[in-house]
Amino acid sequence: MRIANLSGRLALLVDGKAVDVERASRGLFSAEPQAVYERWAEFKVWASCADLPTGEPFEPAELGSPVPAPRQTLAIGLNYRDHASESGFVAPEGLPPVFTKFVTSISGPVTEVKLPAGGKTDWEVELVAVIGQRAEAVSEADAWKYIAGLAVGQDISERVVQLAGPAPQFSLGKSYPGFAPIGPWLVTPDEFDNPDDLELRCAINGEEVQKGRTRDLIFSVPALIAGLSAVLPLLPGDVIFTGTPAGVGLGRDPQRFLAAGDELVTTVEGIGELRQTFVA
Ligand code: ZN
Repeated sequence: MRIANLSGRLALLVDGKAVDVERASRGLFSAEPQAVYERWAEFKVWASCADLPTGEPFEPAELGSPVPAPRQTLAIGLNYRDHASESGFVAPEGLPPVFTKFVTSISGPVTEVKLPAGGKTDWEVELVAVIGQRAEAVSEADAWKYIAGLAVGQDISERVVQLAGPAPQFSLGKSYPGFAPIGPWLVTPDEFDNPDDLELRCAINGEEVQKGRTRDLIFSVPALIAGLSAVLPLLPGDVIFTGTPAGVGLGRDPQRFLAAGDELVTTVEGIGELRQTFVA
């Protein structure tokens, strides 16, 4: 199953077309995309047996984030060995570094992003997992049951703010407006042959800069759910940015950062793509 946020309304995607959930369910489910995760199990049952009308075609630019207002966004650092090494760190052994991307940084999949003045703005393709039921002290073996679905994420990062000061400011440097595009829709785990092995890529103006596979995550998606939920409850509709593979601008020689006019295309196998253009 695939769900989307079409112009602020929850839609179910059927054969690539959008069915408005509030209208098709005669008001049983709200049009508010974030609200569906509170009733995720009930919604999945309804969606699997509802007699749905033919959907409407839409343009990617009309989509918002399929999770526009999570209560918690947990973002994971240094979760691929090759990226930890290019960043000058040893790979983590206990829990990896965890920070947040504040909710105002979240956007839909096709956007124009303003580059912070004087900044060094970088790219990080990431798989995003969205929680479908409250998860507290969940085991790794059970973890996938707590995940509503997966989406493509881009953890855009301004490195000057991120790395200034006596201790790094990960959350601030990664939370400028539009720095957390998510989409283009949410895909349920059952749609993948193996949800633990997906290719992720991103390209700037057509030139590939990152390519990796989620099987190379140091902490897999289930390991993250287990590790994080041992500390704090994960709530329906919460978002986890799972970390980025090698190829970010900070780790290059010479370093490279996004410039006005650049187009960044971010892809995860079996889900779809994000498309950001940058302006001064
Ligand atoms: Zn990241």
